[in-house]
Amino acid sequence: MQKLVVLGAGESGVGAALLAKQQGWDVFVSDSGKIAERYQQELDDAGIDWEEGAHSLDVIFAANEVVKSPGIPDTIPMIQQLHAREIPVISEIEFAGRYTEAKTICITGSNGKTTTTMLIHHLLKQAGVKVEMAGNVGTSLARQIAEGKRPEWFVLELSSFQLDGMYQFKADIAILLNITPDHLDRYDYSMQKYIDSKFRIVQNQTEKDVFVYCQDDEIIARELQNRLLKSELLPFTQKGILKQGAYSTFDELIINYNDETMRIISQELSLQGRHNLYNSMAAGIVAKVLKIRKKLIRESLSSFKGAAHRLERVAAVRGIEFINDSKATNINSTWYALECMNNPVIWIAGGVDKGNDYNELMELVEKKVKVLICLGTDNGKLLDAFKGKVPVIKETQSMDEAVKLAYRSASKNDVVLLSPACASFDLFDNYIQRGDLFKESVRNL
Ligand code: ADP
Repeated sequence: MQKLVVLGAGESGVGAALLAKQQGWDVFVSDSGKIAERYQQELDDAGIDWEEGAHSLDVIFAANEVVKSPGIPDTIPMIQQLHAREIPVISEIEFAGRYTEAKTICITGSNGKTTTTMLIHHLLKQAGVKVEMAGNVGTSLARQIAEGKRPEWFVLELSSFQLDGMYQFKADIAILLNITPDHLDRYDYSMQKYIDSKFRIVQNQTEKDVFVYCQDDEIIARELQNRLLKSELLPFTQKGILKQGAYSTFDELIINYNDETMRIISQELSLQGRHNLYNSMAAGIVAKVLKIRKKLIRESLSSFKGAAHRLERVAAVRGIEFINDSKATNINSTWYALECMNNPVIWIAGGVDKGNDYNELMELVEKKVKVLICLGTDNGKLLDAFKGKVPVIKETQSMDEAVKLAYRSASKNDVVLLSPACASFDLFDNYIQRGDLFKESVRNL
């Protein structure tokens, strides 16, 4: 019997273990931390051996193949030793992909993956296509296949960490939204390594496959000059006109595909803001490729309810609007959030700094932000960056305090925007808890 070791018992690892067991592998799951009780139970029920709190190297090195969870860096000695022993180390998507006949739409980028994945899933579902979504969102691909899901299409959100463990897998439709610095600590601080990882989205593609990408992204545009891709290229842009692909005028989104043109009034798109226009363009192109009727595409792009924690409108209290953009954990996503604010902003920002260069936000901040509320254990860098640039800067250490302070500082028609540009691990479990606490505090006002 072939031996599979699964490293890391989160949703993707447990999914892979369950699928592997079903497919006749001898499976062992190893997690150096604690395994959630519900996962322990599932593994027990399936008769899968597991360990937590340590890695038994003798068992791990006896594997024929290893599925590594995205959270485990490639650089740790155990993984390096697996490479040295030439034991294949792959990601859950690579493993699960072997056991499905479904075609795949794969989405990557530094920002906008979840939004675009959910948007495409919504569009296809509304059009009656048999479709499921997986990857970084919700139930893992492996688990869905183990549970017998047999859709025609899977829409997959792929992080660079998932892509790093992919070799044979191929996307029928690949989407690359943007590339801006993120997670560089996992790539030896080499931007090129991170770029190469993102470009794995087009690996193994042939003439029959499609590559949808943002032409305005300078890194993507530059890389494409050096890469010979076989796939059909379908770009999108907000800076020109395209005969094949999607572009925008001041009030319309236009898609040209195989001599057909479709137009959508931008105001009617449910996702607003320039960044979301890109996401809608990518989704619209995919829908055209799949020959979905124009009317349905228009309806779906205007009926989509955005994902929580991404420019999510929480409430208006006495004419002051509260927006939760807790998922903005880097500069680029906060840039887009500020960019689409039309009223004076009370900006709540801060958390764990990932090497941010706040200068990139300076112009927007000077133009739009009247009060900055720094929320984090270390606000020094924010304070230094914006001292003298924003009329009022305040510091706080709790969400409740930050929201109350924001409310007191705001006048009618102002917007209170939580868009931290930082990770959340100093004061919160994750961005979801941070966003939930924001919403709770707003509701308590
Ligand atoms: P991801 O899954 O890649 O992290 P999300 O859809 O969760 O992306 O969005 C993360 C953050 O980025 C949110 O603050 C959101 O408003 C912002 N965002 C969404 N789409 C884009 C885009 N195309 N470009 C830049 N920022 C974006």
